[in-house]
Amino acid sequence: SVFIGSSIGGLAEIYTSLQKSIGATENLFQILDETKEPLSDIVKIDPEHQLQGNISFRNISFHYPSREDSPVLKGVSFNVSANQKVALVGPSGAGKSTIVSLLLRLYDPSNGHIFFDKKENHHFPLSALRSQMSVVPQDVFLFGGTIGENIAYGKQDATEEELIAAAKKANAWEFIQRFPLGLQTIVGERGIQLSGGQRQRIAIARAVLKAPRILILDEATSALDAESERLVQDALNKLMEGRTSIVIAHRLATIRQADKIIVLDKGAIVEEGTHKELVNVHEGLYKNLSEMQFTQ
Ligand code: ATP
Repeated sequence: SVFIGSSIGGLAEIYTSLQKSIGATENLFQILDETKEPLSDIVKIDPEHQLQGNISFRNISFHYPSREDSPVLKGVSFNVSANQKVALVGPSGAGKSTIVSLLLRLYDPSNGHIFFDKKENHHFPLSALRSQMSVVPQDVFLFGGTIGENIAYGKQDATEEELIAAAKKANAWEFIQRFPLGLQTIVGERGIQLSGGQRQRIAIARAVLKAPRILILDEATSALDAESERLVQDALNKLMEGRTSIVIAHRLATIRQADKIIVLDKGAIVEEGTHKELVNVHEGLYKNLSEMQFTQ
């Protein structure tokens, strides 16, 4: 399988290595969608099943297939209720991206169970799960095609009106309409280069159009310029409304309003609570991390 193996690193690296192995013109999400069901699965749930957005990790342990001697997650349990915004926080290597990979079922846990609305994940057809989840990664990859095609991925039959409405909600329409060819503008290696913030807003527009039950955001570590930052954050806030969101947060200022913050360290959950609760934990990891960021 293309998923197993090579590079070590976060979700961004998983994507990057997948993208390299499938070539710049192909779409990663298409590969994800077409992945065969694992043979061991007894798929019991209708492919059209609508998720409510409740997620539960029960005593999850995990090591990557290539590294049996180094557990990456150790007895991780948490619940996310439908429409909650939950942040995953912790030092580099704590296991945040790995949790997302398990959620997307790029891997199965070594031990423990993952539930969506009280049903175990391997009872769903993969396509049913993934068609209801969107990922907005830190470093957005656009495939070589038009801006419109890049937005339409996930809802191929979208009309031009729908594409424009999604681009507007994502704060992307303003820059798209300034290109002479608008939605027909070619991006990527043979087309125009977009800035990081513009690519992110295209990815947000794609997610707006797909309207997933579960949204996964991998927050950018490298700061965009202030205006682009504001436009991206504003678009993300709108996108998170009314759906379950899991945010891998690097800049803690953006998650003060989260319903729940899960703090990970070395593969285990060490704290869980709201921002207000966690800044009061004496010598707590979250308190330390947020004081460090504040003084920087
Ligand atoms: P960051 O904030 O740096 O992205 P993270 O909290 O998301 O870190 P993970 O990327 O989940 O952490 O990594 C957890 C551990 O798993 C790390 O020790 C990492 O080296 C290891 N790891 C990640 N991906 C793989 C892989 N594909 N194969 C083997 N080990 C991996």
